Amino acid sequence: MTRPTLILNGEARDTGSLGTLPLMDPATETEIAQIPKAGRAEAIEAARLAAEGFAEWSAVSPFERSKILRAAAAIMREQADAAAGDMTREQGKPLAQARGEWMVSADCLEWFAEEGRRTYGRLVPSRAANMTWAVHQRPVGPVAAFTPWNFPAFTVMQKLAPALAAGCSVVLKPAEETPMTAWRICRALLDAGLPPKAIGLIWGDPAEISDTLIKVPEIRKVSLTGSIRVGRLLASAAGHELKKVTMELGGHAPVIIARDADLSQLVPLAAEWKFRNTGQVCVSPTRFLVETPLYDDFVAGMAEAAAKITVGNGADPKTAMGPLTTAAQLTKVQGLYDDAVAKGARVAAGGERIGNQGWFFAPTVLADMTADMRAMNEEPFGPLALVAKVDNIDAALAEANRLPVGLASYAFTENSTTRHRIASGIKAGMLGVNHFALAMPETPFGGVLDSGMGSEGGMEGISAYLTPFLVTARES
Ligand code: NAD
Repeated sequence: MTRPTLILNGEARDTGSLGTLPLMDPATETEIAQIPKAGRAEAIEAARLAAEGFAEWSAVSPFERSKILRAAAAIMREQADAAAGDMTREQGKPLAQARGEWMVSADCLEWFAEEGRRTYGRLVPSRAANMTWAVHQRPVGPVAAFTPWNFPAFTVMQKLAPALAAGCSVVLKPAEETPMTAWRICRALLDAGLPPKAIGLIWGDPAEISDTLIKVPEIRKVSLTGSIRVGRLLASAAGHELKKVTMELGGHAPVIIARDADLSQLVPLAAEWKFRNTGQVCVSPTRFLVETPLYDDFVAGMAEAAAKITVGNGADPKTAMGPLTTAAQLTKVQGLYDDAVAKGARVAAGGERIGNQGWFFAPTVLADMTADMRAMNEEPFGPLALVAKVDNIDAALAEANRLPVGLASYAFTENSTTRHRIASGIKAGMLGVNHFALAMPETPFGGVLDSGMGSEGGMEGISAYLTPFLVTARES
């Protein structure tokens, strides 16, 4: 098993200025290891190193940077089995999902390694014959990146790959729950030849580290994937310091199921994507809004599919759904479930904790959901499929747009007019029509409203780490 360490100047640090933290296995509730706990001292050191690393890495040509990043992607692919084992151990997801996430993260790195070579500037026709107006693209500077535990590889890579490809250095603060995966990614980059000061890896006291990194003058950009609560804290602090931000925050994805949807295709997909990663996905399909004619069949189909899901330790190849990643998540899911049932929700499947060791909660389908229930308003981030009946598409859109968040949304319909009506009426950053797969390295990923600011992925992902530099010159 990997024992993760902090990494500063390319060197392992296995002690932290604030002592140690336990790293837990969510499937067994046993301690995997004691890991170092960093704070203000390491944050200041990491920022100083990142400033030096920025000077060095931004001076490397995009062509050479690309070679190093592609070599790191190759190292990652070679380590897929071991990395998946570590990820499952610390996060809980089934091995196949962990391996898939690791490989997509290597793809993401490779895609941005290529994209970094295409960060072209432009020549603008000037107003005078003897002038040239040239717009260059420069890296924004050292970046502080904060990531969650639900996708411990992909959320890290959506920041590291574009930032490094653009020529930025990064101080990465992954979730304390999933440091092994972040450590492996940083090691792959360093082993591939990334200058040691171009990446720093610290974790420990999140508030102390983020507060310090945002305030120090060396850091010029703050990028967070996480909750709306922490987004508000970090964006406010960064705003005060006038630093650029990218905020990928929570969602509460509606799924509009029109009366002409093909249930035979929808139900297996909905069950697979709802319970994938135990529902701990920011774009997880959450509120299923079903037109009346299909409602009973959809609830019955989801309940049957949910009951067939094999729940267990992610390390067991038979497991389709692992535990929740933290004890706090289990408490939250149980609370939302209890509230919904007390207010009249119908339990069509699941509804209880499984066993008394490991943070397992059964794949659950709650029907007859109404807007007064907490789960319809707070992101469950767990295995709760919430189903509500709607009279028509207008009512579905009204419910979909009721919350102040707008990350992913989904529509199931065979009718192109309905599809266009939903696409033009929905308030979200993304819409999946007749499927649930949204996060690709090539395409922008992000939300509107309280779901955040900026996008990751695609050309938008790299422009978030670039800033224009204008040179106007008078030719003699
Ligand atoms: P979180 O907000 O609690 O933590 C996110 C990161 O911020 C962690 O590394 C955490 O340690 C750090 N952090 C920095 N300063 C902090 C402070 N002052 N207090 C607490 N944490 C601080 O989020 P989480 O629980 O790890 O992840 C779940 C959330 O992330 C969900 O809301 C989910 O929707 C969201 N998420 C969003 C996306 C997206 O792309 N939009 C992707 C995955 C997860």
